[in-house]
Amino acid sequence: MQPVFRFAPSPNGYLHLGHAFSALTDCERCRAAGGRFLLRIEDIDPARCRPEYEAAIYDDLAWLGLAWETPVRRQSEHMADYAAALARLSAMGLVYPSFLSRAEIAAAGSGRDPDGAPIYPGTDRDLPAAEAEARIASGAPYALRLRMDRAIATTGPLTWREDNATIAADPAAWGDVVIARKETPTSYHLAVVIDDAAQGITNVVRGRDLYYATAVHVLLQRLMGLPSPAYHHHRLILDADGRKLSKSDGDTSLRSLRAAGKTPDDTRRMVGL
Ligand code: GLU
Repeated sequence: MQPVFRFAPSPNGYLHLGHAFSALTDCERCRAAGGRFLLRIEDIDPARCRPEYEAAIYDDLAWLGLAWETPVRRQSEHMADYAAALARLSAMGLVYPSFLSRAEIAAAGSGRDPDGAPIYPGTDRDLPAAEAEARIASGAPYALRLRMDRAIATTGPLTWREDNATIAADPAAWGDVVIARKETPTSYHLAVVIDDAAQGITNVVRGRDLYYATAVHVLLQRLMGLPSPAYHHHRLILDADGRKLSKSDGDTSLRSLRAAGKTPDDTRRMVGL
């Protein structure tokens, strides 16, 4: 079977040196494996994603010398797929609405997830269905969460393949993760799992910042009977202060480097390739 790789940026800002490193690493591994290379636009968040950022993604990646198959999958065009997956998980008794605000979750002091965010304390896990429905009907904001203990009891222990190693997945470290919200029938975790399966992805290459989230992804894959790709999480490109680059930090954006006369080869050198 021919391997299938994908690069999956979000059009919520201009691509920077970290994305260049990720895309080039991904593409080189794909080429070495004789694979197909796909691009996916992760635009589930209409408040942050903009068409001009999507257009810039195509320009910047082409400038770097990347080529990808078309049509490109855009997540915003597949909301029905995510809603169907959510309904399946719901029918398995694994989903419930939670109404706590961020501040209330932080104040609960239930520890932190691998990203450093406060873990949801499980407050609304057993809210009577009638009460949850009434609160939803009243227009209250809510997040749909995965009942982590039940989900793990359903699948049993899980592992994923990271290069040539087998990694024990620890999805419980995330608590009851958000898998959808009031306005959107998906979260990043659910959409990425559905899309990787829909696109037949065999190899995921992405940043180390998503290493621990992989535990949630393999859990969702197993719950829904989807195949698991092999993973490679690469080093992150840091700024002069040792922090992860961010899209709001304009001077490492590929378009500003290009405007300053840098070439794709300069960009490769800047990220150590
Ligand atoms: N859309 C994610 C990002 O831009 C990447 C998701 C993934 O590669 O799994 O960080």
